[in-house]
Amino acid sequence: MMFKRVVIFCVLFCSWLTVSHAANSIEKIRIVEHADKTRIVLEVKKKPLLNVYSRSKSTQIVVDFASTKNKVSAWKLAKQSSNILRIEHAKSKNKADTRLVFHLAQAIKYKNFELVGSKRKNYRLVIDLPVKPFSKRVASKSKVVAKAKYIAKPKTISKAKTSAQAKKTIKKITLKKTPKLRDVVIAIDAGHGGKDPGSIGFKRFVEKDINLAIAKRTVAILNNKKGIKAVLIRKTDKFISLDKRSAIARKYKAELLVSIHSDGFTSSRPSGASTLVLSNGRAKYEMNKKLRDNNLDDLLGGVGDAIKSSENSDDLQRTFIDLGQDYSLTAGYQVASNVHSELSRVTGMHKSKPVEQSLAVLKSIDIPSLLVEAGFVTNYKEGKKLTTRAHQQKIANAVAQGVYKYFSTMPPKDTYLAYALRNPQKARRLASLHTVAKGDSLSKIASAYGVTIARLKQYNNLKKDNINIGQKLKIPTS
Ligand SMILES: [Zn+2]
Repeated sequence: MMFKRVVIFCVLFCSWLTVSHAANSIEKIRIVEHADKTRIVLEVKKKPLLNVYSRSKSTQIVVDFASTKNKVSAWKLAKQSSNILRIEHAKSKNKADTRLVFHLAQAIKYKNFELVGSKRKNYRLVIDLPVKPFSKRVASKSKVVAKAKYIAKPKTISKAKTSAQAKKTIKKITLKKTPKLRDVVIAIDAGHGGKDPGSIGFKRFVEKDINLAIAKRTVAILNNKKGIKAVLIRKTDKFISLDKRSAIARKYKAELLVSIHSDGFTSSRPSGASTLVLSNGRAKYEMNKKLRDNNLDDLLGGVGDAIKSSENSDDLQRTFIDLGQDYSLTAGYQVASNVHSELSRVTGMHKSKPVEQSLAVLKSIDIPSLLVEAGFVTNYKEGKKLTTRAHQQKIANAVAQGVYKYFSTMPPKDTYLAYALRNPQKARRLASLHTVAKGDSLSKIASAYGVTIARLKQYNNLKKDNINIGQKLKIPTS
């Protein structure tokens, strides 16, 4: 019973096969991208009657096969060459014929020839597009590799695959090595200046000059740290109003404002450095004043407009400022704590912790701010010390270190420091080249990176101590 059925089935099936066998057919289509051309190979069972021509200003190649069926889903193959946009399988009125239309990416003068097959091989129509494939110019080679089963020579493929993979890897590495990350901007303000000398101590120790000297040193130290860009609010001995100082910091998009001062008192007794931060009261006062003056735009940096245009804008404005203010106050206080502890290592302290005060100097409630009193100019011993380079450098170092510690552990988004915190090893490699800038010396660079001068020289094969601006120095990683 079963055997009978199989026989019947076979008879039916085989007779259909014989019919189909009688007609000619397109068996395979291969598209291979070479360095200088794209080759299309159409394999047909036996030599067909055909017509090859171009149309649409040489942007299409038409191949008409008489009495030939197509067995290949040609539309998929277009992906294999960047020179071919798509392959259209057009239906003919006479259903026995096949028309293939190759839509090209540009006008190309093609060449074609045929390879008549032996008994074992199919007839082959070869169409060459003598134009460098796009993939060899711009696009990725991997597309072709992915479809490697269609490509004839396996040895060439494996080579292409290897080089394409290598290229991909190289690209990845280069991309990772040059992340687009911004620096944290720190504004350093030297208190007083010009007509306003600040406190004046013994032997005319003038506050404004000491402040400027320490501020300049702080900026230099900070700028030697990767991921930090420090700017001076005043570079010379000139008077700048307090409002203007905040405005300058804002213009630089500073994320911290450190104002450097030196104390003065009516008695020569008090001494020691201190750190001061804006008290809540002062911040609230400033906020209310800003709201009263309707001066929101410069406070919010453009966000004000969006808030103003929405409903309940008054409440929103308050909330928004409250949030920003909370951040400012907290960040300011934390940096101040860091700076305070760093200062306590190099000099005597006037107070045991950062002082919260309503200071007019700290007017910017939108930027975290702190004030550093380097010491008392009215104390003879301390005033004298404050005029020396060595002591100024110690104070500057402590301020810079405190600031850096804060931002390297609490870095703002999209900054190099945030990247470095997540990828310490990669960051170390990134930081391992130093470009010599104006004012750099071997000792300065060595201390900035925490290495010895001898090690730095040996690492860079330097025979002498002099270095040139623009010179790149490798920094030993440990
Ligand atoms: Zn002052």
